[in-house]
Amino acid sequence: MKKTICLLPGDGIGPEILAQGVAVLKAVGQKFGHEFCMEEALIGGAAIDATGQPLPDATVETCRKADAIFLAAVGGPKWDGLAPEIRPEKGLLGIRKALGLFANLRPALLLPELAGACLLRADVAAKGLDLIVVRELTGDVYFGEPRGVEVRDGLRTGYNTMIYNEEEIRRIARVAFETARQRNKKVCSVEKSNVLESSRLWKEVVIETHKDYADVELSHMYVDNAAMQLVRDPSQFDVILTGNIFGDILSDEASVITGSLGMLPSASMGASGPGLFEPIHGSAPDIAGQDKANPLATILSAAMMLRLAFQLGAEADAVENAVRQTLRDGFRTGDIMEEGKTLVGCTAMGQKVVERLLAG
Ligand code: NAD
Repeated sequence: MKKTICLLPGDGIGPEILAQGVAVLKAVGQKFGHEFCMEEALIGGAAIDATGQPLPDATVETCRKADAIFLAAVGGPKWDGLAPEIRPEKGLLGIRKALGLFANLRPALLLPELAGACLLRADVAAKGLDLIVVRELTGDVYFGEPRGVEVRDGLRTGYNTMIYNEEEIRRIARVAFETARQRNKKVCSVEKSNVLESSRLWKEVVIETHKDYADVELSHMYVDNAAMQLVRDPSQFDVILTGNIFGDILSDEASVITGSLGMLPSASMGASGPGLFEPIHGSAPDIAGQDKANPLATILSAAMMLRLAFQLGAEADAVENAVRQTLRDGFRTGDIMEEGKTLVGCTAMGQKVVERLLAG
């Protein structure tokens, strides 16, 4: 198979971790006989420095022509003082918008090898945590109009609009049901329909869409309860389907309880065109350029790319198994270091995974 991948290294630890993700993809190509053509483009602070814009047109063009996009991270203190329109993070929002990436998939998995890092009580963690949050990414209160800050009755007043139409709900619900079909066939739709009209429509449309997915079990939960249940008993969840703002918060909560920010990948998909694959963490400026970053979230994002963008399930499994074997063999970067394990840097960690992938 021949595929083109647009690489967006970005800022901070971005270039270091992406190099390891690329090394793993090259090893997959070598082992399984695929050709991955990589083309690099600018985003974030690096793009601002070179062009004055966080998302140059040339980057959008390169992304559009690719079969998948592999992004590391953007941002850093150097650009914090810039106006909001040209901050590095605008590059991220811009590329999601330009490519119509409406579905954000974030797995949260507690690997037995890293159970010690989990923030939950041991008896709760022992039940396991293997869920995926399917978050709508292009609608809701983050994009709804009208929005603004104005003076009303002599008081400064800020307002936003929580809004979804039925088609936006239907298409993300389908992604959740399809995802569940490849997992444990359970979807929990999370909203606040006891208070919000947009949530009432959400629930109604999810129930309608479910008629095409009778093999998948559907349940409903209010967002405040979901936030509690994630901590009380995350083992009850398989796929959590939710809107943009609730998903923003719940996906961070689900990932932090695993205790390993440097381990968690994500995918953002559109109706057609290339998907975008990236670790969930940021550019970690505090450790940038020191070969200390954990590249495993980026490497696991490459596995998601293989599975979701290229339908290469066996290759994705091989990458995930190589990561687990590396951990089983006791190698750890600083962020997941435990007593009795072997501390390695970013490059060495990537090499260990490549060695196990090629040997497996
Ligand atoms: P961060 O995720 O970059 O870092 C939080 C903490 O986790 C830091 O101590 C960092 O060293 C550590 N960390 C993160 N990734 C790690 C890894 N792979 N290995 C080891 N340690 C890791 O979040 P932050 O500090 O809030 O943000 C830093 C910059 O990143 C900001 O400019 C922010 O806007 C940006 N950011 C970008 C993205 C993205 O590109 N998707 C996401 C979040 C934050």
